[in-house]
Amino acid sequence: MKTLKLKSSREIPILGQGTWRMGERASQKQAEIDALKLGIDLGMTLIDTAEMYGEGGAEKVVAEAIADCRDKVFLVSKFYPYNASYQGVIKACDRSLSRLKTDYIDLYLLHWRGSVPLSETLEGLQHLKQVGKILDYGVSNFDVDDMEEAVSLPGGEAIVTNQVLYNLMRRGIEWDLLPWCQQRDIPIMAYSPVEQRAFAGRLELEAIAAKHNATTTQIALSWLLGQNNVISIPKATNPQHVRENHAALNISLSAEDIREIDCAFKPPARKMSLAMR
Ligand code: NAP
Repeated sequence: MKTLKLKSSREIPILGQGTWRMGERASQKQAEIDALKLGIDLGMTLIDTAEMYGEGGAEKVVAEAIADCRDKVFLVSKFYPYNASYQGVIKACDRSLSRLKTDYIDLYLLHWRGSVPLSETLEGLQHLKQVGKILDYGVSNFDVDDMEEAVSLPGGEAIVTNQVLYNLMRRGIEWDLLPWCQQRDIPIMAYSPVEQRAFAGRLELEAIAAKHNATTTQIALSWLLGQNNVISIPKATNPQHVRENHAALNISLSAEDIREIDCAFKPPARKMSLAMR
């Protein structure tokens, strides 16, 4: 698996697995655990979760999936903005650690910006890093102005990623946020990379997909995997989807393919407000 180097010098895989909507239904739990384990076995060892997903349920699913392989997993979790005070983030982290049945989180993210001053959140994150409960920290759903503010604060220089909505149908960040992060070696973690199934059967991608003996969803993911400084975290419970997402790593899009894709899914021609789910 290709990796990117974080500012902290730690390596992070460019393709991982999301967990939103996991941990919500008991009847799905085993299938979710199996899907994550399959993905890990294939090399998608980066797992993204959050205290919000299933109100802790997703973290419990992750705990079971990684129980016998914690050391080879790069574990990302996120905390609510209303838990972003100095004490709040420390307590939220302890709760996540307990649900995840581990003693450290590889990368801990502020899920989106709320009313707590960023300086206070960063103090809490620095403390968690000092005591070894998290190895790195970052943010999510931050646009350029939020990033500029965050990196100017004490502890802000250690922000290693910004997790945002990015895929072929959501290219707004290419105008400013993506280059801003690329210039500062801050990888973007692209969420909803397959736009929650919306690429399935997209006519504009069908000819390219046929050429590569792939699905249209795989072509969309392959395009994202080719972007500089970008990590993708598709969520899949269906094992066939897990396999297809992994196989997208082996698709090599030609310059002609990329031209066709750019015609069908145009890059931004102006600043757009940051898209969010
Ligand atoms: P996504 O990964 O774009 O799409 C997930 C959906 O696509 C699921 O219904 C899945 O089906 C299906 N799918 C996955 N691979 C497929 C394939 N190869 N072919 C066809 N369908 C496929 O959407 P997402 O869950 O919104 O985003 C991914 C992850 O990003 C989340 O799970 C979460 O970890 C993170 N996220 C973060 C934020 C944030 O605010 N920071 C927001 C949204 C998401 P099955 O499950 O049936 O396989």
